[in-house]
Amino acid sequence: MNSIGSIMYNYIRVKSVLSKSKLPDLDYALNPYIGCEHGCIYCYGPDMCRRYLEVALNWGSTVLIKSNLISVLRKDLKHAKRGTVGISTATDPYQPVEGRLGITREAINILLNHGFKVSIQSKSNTVTRDLDLMSEGNIDVGLTITTLNDALASIIEPKAPRPYLRAKAAYEISANGIELWIFLGPIIPLVNDDENNINEVVELAASVNAYVIYDKLNVKPLMLYNLRRKWTLKADLDEVIRLSSDRNYVRNLSITISNICRKHRVKCVPAFRSLVT
Ligand code: SF4
Repeated sequence: MNSIGSIMYNYIRVKSVLSKSKLPDLDYALNPYIGCEHGCIYCYGPDMCRRYLEVALNWGSTVLIKSNLISVLRKDLKHAKRGTVGISTATDPYQPVEGRLGITREAINILLNHGFKVSIQSKSNTVTRDLDLMSEGNIDVGLTITTLNDALASIIEPKAPRPYLRAKAAYEISANGIELWIFLGPIIPLVNDDENNINEVVELAASVNAYVIYDKLNVKPLMLYNLRRKWTLKADLDEVIRLSSDRNYVRNLSITISNICRKHRVKCVPAFRSLVT
C-alpha cells in the first residue's frame, strides 16, 4: 500500500477487465481503478465496489489500481465481439492517479486499434490530455456537471476538478469535433434541482453543441452510509431521500428539464426509463 497526500493506493491483479454492461448503449464496461479520489458525497461507486469493503467505506481516500489491466485487456479482446466500451462506469477514469499512470490512455488506444467504440465519462479536465486519441478514434466523451456553482460543487464533489475547469474542457473537446455530452446527474432534491442551476448547465451544453443526459439521485445502501457521514448541506437529508423516489417530484423534475432543454434547443435524454414522464 502506497500513500500520496491523503490517498492510499494499492495494486491488485485481476483476471478479466472487460465486463458486460447493463447500461443503455454500452456493450462492455472497463474500469482501470476501483475507488475514486474525487470523493463525491453522492457517489454510488461504493455500492458497485462493495466486495472491496475497505474502498467502499473509505470512499475518496482509498484506490485500487489494476496493475495488469493492459495485458488482461489484450487477452480479453481475443474473444470479445466488437462493440461499445464504457470507460468508466463505476469510478472516474481520469482521477488524479491516471495523470501519473496513463492506464486509461493505453486502454483506449488498444480498444480503438481493435475496432471498438469507446464512450468515456469523467468529471476531470485531464480528459483533454487524450484529445489526440479522441480526434482519430470512434469515441464520445461525457463530462459530468451537476452544477456550475463552485461553492456547491466544493461540498458535494470535494476533490473533483471545479466545474469551470470541466466547462473549459467541454469547449476544447467540442472545438476538436468530438461527440460530447454533458451528464447532469445526479440531480439532488433541494440541492441542485432548482431551475437556475439546471438552466446554467443546459446553457453550457448548448454553447458547446453537446446533448444532455440527466439522472435523478438513486439512493443505494452504501451511498446512503456515506451521505449520512458527509452531509453538511442545509437541506434536510431525510427529505432529500424521500423526494428522490417521489413519483410526482421525479415527474415534475423531468418536465422541467425537458422544457429547459427545448428552450435552448438541446437534445436531452433521461439516463433511465424510470425518468420518462
Ligand atoms: S467522480 Fe464519479 S466515480 Fe468519482 S467519486 Fe465522483 S461520482 Fe464517484
